[in-house]
Formats: sequence, C-alpha cells, structure tokens
Amino acid sequence: MTSDSNGPAQNLESVLQQIKSAARAVSRDPAGVTLIAVSKTHDAERIAPLIAAGQRAFGENRIQEAQAKWPALKTIAPDIVLHLIGPLQSNKAADAVALFDVIHTVDRPRIAEALASEMARQNRRLPCFIQVNTGREPQKAGIDPHAAEQFVKDCVATWNLPVVGLMCIPPVEERAAVHFGFLKDLARRTGLSQLSMGMSADFETAVRLGATHVRVGSALFGARPASAETKRN
Ligand SMILES: *Cc1c(COP(=O)(O)O)cnc(C)c1O
Repeated sequence: MTSDSNGPAQNLESVLQQIKSAARAVSRDPAGVTLIAVSKTHDAERIAPLIAAGQRAFGENRIQEAQAKWPALKTIAPDIVLHLIGPLQSNKAADAVALFDVIHTVDRPRIAEALASEMARQNRRLPCFIQVNTGREPQKAGIDPHAAEQFVKDCVATWNLPVVGLMCIPPVEERAAVHFGFLKDLARRTGLSQLSMGMSADFETAVRLGATHVRVGSALFGARPASAETKRN
C-alpha cells in the first residue's frame, strides 16, 4: 500500500513491486517498464530521497517549474532522465530541448516543427512520444485519433523527429483499459514500440496492456494541492 504518511522512498518500493507483479501476470519482463516519478509541485527536498533510493526517471509538466528545480537536482546523479509530460507551447521549445531528455507531448505540426528546429540548433536529439487525445476531449491536448497515423508519418518524414512511441491520458470518467488498448493498437499500426500510459490510479492496468512508461505522481509523493492541476505552460 502507498499512503501520504509514507515517505516517497517507501512508496517507491511498493510501486515498483506492483509494476513487477502486473508485468509478470502477463508474462512481460518488468525491466521493459520504466517508472517515471512525476514530481510536479514537489520541491527538491521531497525529490532528493527518491534519487537517493535509485529512481532515475522523473516527469514534470511545467517548464518554468522544472527549470527552477532540475538543473541542481540533475547534478546529484548524472544519469537522471527528465521527461516533459505537460503541454508544450512552441515559444518554449528551446527551453524544453535544453532541459528535458524525453518529450511526451508532441501533438501538432507547430510543436513538431519547433522541436525539430531546436534539436538541430542545440544538437540534441530527444526521443519523442506523440500524445493522442484518445477520448477526443475538447479541453485536452493531443492529436485526434483519426489524424494520428498521418501525424506520426509527418513527424518522421517532414521533420525527422525521433518518434519512439505514443502517449495518452484517458478521460477520468471512462475505463482506462479501453484507451490503453486503443493506444497499443495504434502504436502497432504505426510501427512504434513504446507506450506512455498509466498514472497512479491505473498504472497496473497499463502495464498489463503493454505500457513501457508509466507516469506516477501521487502514489509516490502523496496528493497534490488541487490548484496545481490547472496551471499551464
Ligand atoms: C500529473 C500527471 C501524472 C501523474 O498523475 P498521478 O495521478 O498523480 O499519478 C501523469 N501524467 C501526466 C500527464 C500528468 O500531468
């Protein structure tokens, strides 16, 4: 069990164990699943114990917040991998490419183009996930599922982006498994091998359905203040 009263390092152990069990239940190698610790809203003092416990993949959704915390935190361990999991504006592409190591939220031509040109300029090639709005929710980021296959092709052919997989955030009121299954199928059709799906409430389901990256925040760090959810880049 995870709980707010446990420290993040204790919670880490149980989350990793849950990932292992879920993977083994479907005969997957647990090593094929990367746990991204989503550290948004949490300060360096809360994050450092997780780094000390061996966690290396972290996720942030706001560039400004990440810029304030991560340059210092990254010096603790040279192999930390920082994932951008929040919406990206094209005027922040330079900052994103400079600080992050993986981008999960490529969802429109303007972003693909801005990232491609920044990667060329900074001579940094960051693995990219295409975010798919599987629930077709108007308020949510992500490419429409019907346009996704063509967009993946364009990202590679037109912009030469290093596209490695697909990412989704299912609608809260729907069964996540349906969306995870859809995303997996879409990845197979587009020839992509990586799937960024599953959060605190459903990462075990996601692992059973093929997630290669789960993005887990509150199960590690405890609940976030509600106001933090509405901030944007
Ligand atoms: C905040 C966030 C998460 C983590 O959510 P939890 O429910 O706290 O695990 C995962 N993915 C994205 C895109 C997020 O913004």
